[in-house]
This record gives sequence, C-alpha cells and structure tokens, in this order.
Amino acid sequence: MLFQFSDRLWYIPSEEATDRPVLGYLRGDHRSLMIDAGNSARHAAGFLHLLDERNLPHPELVALTHSHWDHCYGLCALDAVSICCAATRKDLERDASLVWSDDAMHTYLETGVVQKFCEEHMRVEYPQLEEIQVNLPEIVFSGELTIDLGGCHAVLRQLTNPHTEDGVVVWLPEERVLFVGDAAYEELVGNDWIDHPDRLSSFASALREMDFTHCFVGHGEPMTRNALFDWFSQRLSV
Ligand SMILES: [Zn+2]
Repeated sequence: MLFQFSDRLWYIPSEEATDRPVLGYLRGDHRSLMIDAGNSARHAAGFLHLLDERNLPHPELVALTHSHWDHCYGLCALDAVSICCAATRKDLERDASLVWSDDAMHTYLETGVVQKFCEEHMRVEYPQLEEIQVNLPEIVFSGELTIDLGGCHAVLRQLTNPHTEDGVVVWLPEERVLFVGDAAYEELVGNDWIDHPDRLSSFASALREMDFTHCFVGHGEPMTRNALFDWFSQRLSV
C-alpha cells in the first residue's frame, strides 16, 4: 500500500515478518528521489509497481540511510543512481564480497557477521539465500549533500546516532519532514539491543536544529516532532 503524505511525498509502511523498512518517495519537478532501497529485489520491484499504479515516475535517485541489509539489498532492482555516505559504501563492499548460502549463513552466525535477528528475517524474505544480490551505491559523500529535485530539496546529513556508525538522515525542508532510517533506534549487538545515551543525546541535539513537523522512522509509523523528542527524553532520563 502506497500512502500519500503531501503533494510531493509518498511512502510505503514497514513490514515486521520480513523486516522490510519504510520506503519514501519525493517527487520533484525534475527528478524523483527514493529514500532507502528496500530489503530485496522483490521489495523494490513491488514499490515501483505501486508507483506505476499511481502514474508516478520511477525514481532517478535513491538515498540510503545506512548499510543494513533491509535498507539496501533492493538496489539491484532499481534503475536509479544510488547515493550513500562513505561508511555505508564500505560496509556494503564487505557484504557484496560475501557468498550467500545455507552453509555460509551458519558460518556468518557463528562469527557474528550476521546476527540471529537479521538471519530470521532474511530467511522469510529470501527462501533461497542464493537470491541475495548486493549492489554498490554509485555516489559517495561525507558530511552533507543537498539535492535540488526541482521545486523541492533533499538534504542528506551524516549524524552520530545510537544505531550504527554510518547513519544518514534525509531532511526534506519544503515538506518539513525528516527520514531517519533506523538512526533513532538502539544498536543490535549479538542478540541484544543496546542504547547509547551519549550518541542519542548528540543525535537529538542535531535534530533539534532541523525544521520538521514529522519524522519517518525505519520500522514504525510516522511520528510527530513532539512524539520523537518525548521518546528521546524518556530514554535519556532512564
Ligand atoms: Zn538498521
């Protein structure tokens, strides 16, 4: 289901069983931007199909929020120029060098290359692990990148965050919307979700400087600005 959020912004919600994240779509007058690529070719292709149903052009650009499989492994089904920060590209270079099979997965679980939580969801999305194809993003930036889509902009900003080392938020100033991927979440370490109050505090401070009314998190409903900062305050006061 493709939801329209504003004149220019659409999104599909996350799905728990497959760990599919929210995908965003911003339609500029000249170019369209997809936010995150999906967890598989099937996920990305399904998204394009929903765009077709609304007569929306396929995205010419796709921005990645971080390197986790569920946000990136759909790249192989997209004919869009892909953009990420340098740390995300480095992580994906490692993933692209891996062999995907049952035997290999057993090794990755033992050595911590893949965590149990991810493996369980990957097996739902990929009945045959051999289907996994990891494509590498083409444009790499550090710090910040602003894209003029025609009549609207997307600002990709790399921020310290509690989830990963490589988080990028995508701020849509004209829509007053922020996509944070999973950057607001805790870090998955082994089988545990670990919060990092220092990194969360830094993340919250950076977000306070940005003008937005709604925030899209990777695996939940869109949140209002107030709800987002209330959630941060609760975690920081524990
Ligand atoms: Zn993640």
